[in-house]
Amino acid sequence: MLRTHTCGELRIGNKGTVVTLCGWAQKIRDKGGMIWVDLRDRYGLTQLVFDESKTSPEIVALARSVGREFVLQATGKVIERFAKNDKIPTGEIEIEVSELNLLNPSKVPPFTIEDDTDGGDELRMKYRYLDIRRQPVRKNLELRHRMLQATRAYMDSQNFMEVETPFLIKSTPEGARDFVVPSRVHQGEFYALPQSPQTFKQLLMVSGIDRYFQIVRCFRDEDLRADRQPEFTQIDCEMSFIEQDDILNTFEGLTKHLFKNVLGVSLEQVERMTYDEAMRFYGSDKPDTRFEMKFVELNDLAKGKGFNVFDDAELVVGICAKGCASYTRKQLDELTEFVKKPQIGAKGLVYVRYNEDGTLRSSVDKFYEENSLKSWAVKMNAQPGDLMLILSGATDTTRNALSTLRLKLGEDLGLRVKNIFKALWVVDFPLLEWNEESGRFHAMHHPFTSPKKQDFDKLTSDPGAVRANAYDLVINGVEIGGGSIRIHDKTLQQAMFNALGFTEEEAKKQFGFLMDAFEFGAPPHGGIAFGFDRLCALFGGADSIRDFIAFPKNNAGRDVMIDSPSTISKEQLVELGIDIRVAAK
Ligand code: ASP
Repeated sequence: MLRTHTCGELRIGNKGTVVTLCGWAQKIRDKGGMIWVDLRDRYGLTQLVFDESKTSPEIVALARSVGREFVLQATGKVIERFAKNDKIPTGEIEIEVSELNLLNPSKVPPFTIEDDTDGGDELRMKYRYLDIRRQPVRKNLELRHRMLQATRAYMDSQNFMEVETPFLIKSTPEGARDFVVPSRVHQGEFYALPQSPQTFKQLLMVSGIDRYFQIVRCFRDEDLRADRQPEFTQIDCEMSFIEQDDILNTFEGLTKHLFKNVLGVSLEQVERMTYDEAMRFYGSDKPDTRFEMKFVELNDLAKGKGFNVFDDAELVVGICAKGCASYTRKQLDELTEFVKKPQIGAKGLVYVRYNEDGTLRSSVDKFYEENSLKSWAVKMNAQPGDLMLILSGATDTTRNALSTLRLKLGEDLGLRVKNIFKALWVVDFPLLEWNEESGRFHAMHHPFTSPKKQDFDKLTSDPGAVRANAYDLVINGVEIGGGSIRIHDKTLQQAMFNALGFTEEEAKKQFGFLMDAFEFGAPPHGGIAFGFDRLCALFGGADSIRDFIAFPKNNAGRDVMIDSPSTISKEQLVELGIDIRVAAK
């Protein structure tokens, strides 16, 4: 090997030993008689020192020629540093270099490769291989690596078998658009890249694999949104001969295992909440339960007092912000402006201050006497010093708006602490959701999700009211994963396709292979998939999944490093039988 040690491991105990290190020159300081070079590798930084009074003139001259990011091999004695640096583990020592090898020079890097960099996002993405030399990025990849290893260890310990499924497939029904790959051999025909291995993992259950998992790339050609990647990674699983609780328990186990092994955190009991409760108390199917501030519905108390806005509303609902009665007029105006933003869409915000002296003052004093306001306070469990904030309107939009306000207040009040983790299962999702655009029901999860037994009969009479054996794992307001118990009965699957508006023929064309398989003894089964990139970001205390992917696409879906997507040559197009002019028409 070209080195005896790494740049991260030498300590004062190594004083006096002669070592050889390899790495990149991060910083060079030339103070006349002395030159210092910070040498960096994957493991850390070690300071090299060249002393004109001790080192040979050739070595000193060579050291003077070193530029940022030059690749060096340096041999020398470990000595105690005069000015110690307590910010890095190697900060007590330096290497008095006696031999220096310039392994490779470097162009001047386009941005400083240090923990704090002057490089903007786009530039760092273009030179991602240099960005990865930076410790914060490398640490994220290390975290991801540890998560991968811990996941595999747990799944293996639970008798799950890792099976790879193909990437060149026919479309999977997850509801997004497929990326397609033209076939050269079968001109005019296309493969699709999997949105998930959903159908394959169900087929593996028919095959008797029983417990399958895969850490797998998925591809979805969705409209671009911040922090979406067209390709992303899932921990994908499926189990046979189980009920919903078995899946929840197994994957609660995985979650706890990861927290314990990767972060050293013991996750508390994972709460379970129905979709209806989540919507009623938090206005969201992925509530952040690190803080309370639950919704309280006020229809019974607030309506019928002559305040038209409330009288005409389907829902009057509020939250109580603890200790916020002292909010100034300006702060309240800002909150009002916030909820009135078009993307939130509330018409206005009613507030009630429950003053420390026990008096109640609201923005609707004209319509409500203090006694009425008091009854709201009782229902909302508000105490003197608290602030009640109330929205009204159509149920869905009002809940949505109040949920956004709740999260903002949680943020403002410092209640969304990054290193506190609260996980919960949201269960009993609706099976179907109405889609205005297509004028029909769509599967909320996917068409293989089984309805709850007690709701079977509503599948034709009241499809919107049917609940599913579907569940999501939510941590700190982030949807980490979701899955369902599947339909394994051909007749029920047919009824489901009917409810989704498929003719028998269409269903056969798209999913015939699965329906056929179900005729050969499909076991009861179900599964789940975790969004792995998001899980890594959560563990790393970051909001963006991009920081946890070695070579991500930018927010416009481009890889700016390799410049993709890009055009292909005429010859390639001809070979594939693709005529761009036809496609454009
Ligand atoms: N295939 C589903 C998804 O990607 C997960 C599952 O149902 O297991 O969301």
